[in-house]
Amino acid sequence: MRNSRKFWQAERLLHLALWLAATCTARDAGLHLFEAVEPHMGTLVRIKLYAAGADQAKPAFGAAFARIAELDGALSDYQPESELNRVCRTAIGTPVAASADLFGVLAASRKLAEETNGAFDVTLGPVIRLWRQARRDRRLPDAAALREAAARSGYRKLHLDTARRTVMLDEPGMQIDLGGIAKGYAADAALAVLAALGIRRALVAASGDLAFGDPPPGRRGWTIGLDSPACVLELANGAVSTSGDEQQHLDVGGRRYSHIIDPATSMALARPIGVTIVARRGVDADGLATAVSVLGAERGLALIEARPGVAGRIVTDRVVASTRWPGARH
Ligand code: ADP
Ligand code: MG
Repeated sequence: MRNSRKFWQAERLLHLALWLAATCTARDAGLHLFEAVEPHMGTLVRIKLYAAGADQAKPAFGAAFARIAELDGALSDYQPESELNRVCRTAIGTPVAASADLFGVLAASRKLAEETNGAFDVTLGPVIRLWRQARRDRRLPDAAALREAAARSGYRKLHLDTARRTVMLDEPGMQIDLGGIAKGYAADAALAVLAALGIRRALVAASGDLAFGDPPPGRRGWTIGLDSPACVLELANGAVSTSGDEQQHLDVGGRRYSHIIDPATSMALARPIGVTIVARRGVDADGLATAVSVLGAERGLALIEARPGVAGRIVTDRVVASTRWPGARH
């Protein structure tokens, strides 16, 4: 009696499963892959999505890219009139209201600074600007200028009031640079715009910062290829960020200086390190990839392992991967 009821229940479940599979396949059968690329945030942003047709895909691309452009207007330190730069000019010694986006990225940055003892520090703007100029001039920045710029940096001089959503800076001449975290946040935000339009099978790639939703129809995940060493990941509903940009560096005296700075010394990293982080959200993956680059393999791996839902691969003269790393091989 009991067994027959169980059997009947199992059969009903099986029917339900088959019915779900059939409707999913029918729905997915009408989906087509669309792809678009636009320049934003000083890089190329690529979006792949599955939609019923161009009528659905085109406005979705428009809305997602518009959201990224809006975020660039809030978070950029290159645009003089960005919200970030206006706050840097006006929030000295006095709390200034910030948009939800700017406040959200600053709060995530401040938290990561505390968790990494300042290895990740968005108040490093004055130092980062000297290194940017150094790359243009093809010579190292002046040591005295670096010391002066470092004196205007330090995450403890950035104050955030969550209840009032205000920002305050301790000193004039402070400059916040969100280059290590903003692209991951923007990828998340663009993906959310697509989801709100009913497009869940999508991937947003802001150069090395990827955020993705449900997988392509019939697949277990999005195929994400990594280089040096080659590795293929198949992931859905998450984010992957890679730091170690080969494009932006300075070669002086036989050394290659990265665009990532160690806040402890104000020096650009001069030892090769490539970091890939897998996380639930792009904002976390992006910030962590930069932070781990500064911390190096040993301390970086400890930071990754301490976070549930985060995995990473660090490439120096050897390759190490965290226990949760999803790749079959490094
Ligand atoms: P990419 O821009 O190639 O994706 P990252 O995400 O690692 O690489 O960001 C590098 C950028 O982060 C630099 O160009 C600079 O704007 C900023 N940055 C550099 N060093 C630090 C640091 N120690 N903490 C926070 N941001 C940093
Ligand atoms: Mg980063």
